[in-house]
Formats: sequence, C-alpha cells, structure tokens
Amino acid sequence: MRIAILGGTFDPIHNGHLAAARSVASAFCIDEVHFVPAYSAPHKQSRESTSAFHRFAMVALGVSPFEAFRASAIEVDALEKRYTVDTLDTMRSTYPDAQFVFIMGTDMYQDFETWKDYRRLFTLAHLAIVHRPGFEFRSDLAPHRVVQDGEMVALPEKPAVFYLPFVEQPVSSTSLRDACRKGEPFSANAQQWIPPAVWNHIERNKLYS
Ligand code: ATP
Repeated sequence: MRIAILGGTFDPIHNGHLAAARSVASAFCIDEVHFVPAYSAPHKQSRESTSAFHRFAMVALGVSPFEAFRASAIEVDALEKRYTVDTLDTMRSTYPDAQFVFIMGTDMYQDFETWKDYRRLFTLAHLAIVHRPGFEFRSDLAPHRVVQDGEMVALPEKPAVFYLPFVEQPVSSTSLRDACRKGEPFSANAQQWIPPAVWNHIERNKLYS
C-alpha cells in the first residue's frame, strides 16, 4: 500500500491543499492520503491558531468527498506538539508494509534543515515537494527528480525526493482568514477556495470573524 501524508495547520483547509494532494496521489498511484492537522504548529508559533479540534473538524469535512483521503487524528490526539519525524515513525509501525510519501510545499521545504532530525526524515519517506507560487524550489538540499504533469512515477525502493513544479495554487490559509475577517466582498472571494462544508463550519462557529 502507498500512503501519502500531508501535515499542516489547516487553519482552514483549502482547495490548494486538496489540489496538491490530488496531484501527488495521481503521480504516485497513492492508495490513501492522510491529512494530519498539527496539535500545535511547530513552525508557526507567532500567532494564536484556531483550536486543534476545529481544525481537525474542518479537515474531516473537507476531505470527506474524496474516497482516498483521510483525516488523521494522530497528532491532535497527542494533545501536545508532535514533530513530523515522530509521526512518521508511528505511521511506519502502524503500517509496516506501506510505502510513504510525505507531501510539502516549496515554502516548507525552504526551511527543511530547521525540522527536527531532518536528515533522518529523508530516510523515512519519499518526499513530494509541490510548487507553491512565490516560493522557489531548493535544489541544493538533496538529489531530486522533477515530475512532469500527467507523469506516473514508480516509487523506488529507497526513499527519494520528487519535485512537482506544475502544481499552481495561489492560495494560503492566512489570506483566507484575513479575507473572512474583512467581510464582504473579500469573504465571497475566500469562499471560492474553501470546500462548502468547511465554509459552513467556519460561518456557524464564527471562526474568523
Ligand atoms: P498559513 O497561511 O496559515 O501558513 P498554509 O496555507 O500554508 O497556512 P498549511 O496548513 O500550513 O497551510 O500547509 C500545509 C501544507 O500544505 C504545507 O506543506 C504547505 O506547504 C502546503 N500548502 C499549503 N498551501 C499550498 C498551496 N497553495 N500550494 C502548494 N502547497 C501548499
């Protein structure tokens, strides 16, 4: 079985996350994509984020239309900050026969050396780095292979790094939160980037107003 993992804050989940996951799923013939909301965000401590429970709920609502997508509670269940390397260790022991592909945007990969045990991370899972507008791919960190749009890639035995330059999703959770706070007409634009069930959850719970 091939499992892709997309970790994040998901405050809120948006169509950019879903599109990136879909691109990786089809390029690598992935059986399941696990979306893993962080309990707290190790890389984003400069602001108060929405409670882990609301963020998990939004992920569950956002992925539910996609049969291969799962909302994973592995990090929120810990009720404390978890690092990716620990999450991957746990996933590997839960699914001993699976191959793992860890997905991240070029923004996250730019600071990859600051991640806990980042060298070991290269050995625990394949990395699929998806282009994020405005963030250049760092080619100096590790040997990598560029994946073309529509290409089907056979995963090698040994974990490798892949770059998907064709992913083009100009959206961030930050811009969506800001647009919601500003109200109309900005929030109407934000709504287009957010799955309908997630939008309802945001409105009913006044998460960003
Ligand atoms: P924020 O604006 O609050 O920092 P975000 O939009 O970056 O949030 P995260 O939940 O932090 O969303 O992102 C989770 C993962 O998804 C990260 O690896 C990030 O690089 C990737 N990602 C998020 N948005 C995009 C996008 N528009 N294109 C490609 N990758 C993305």
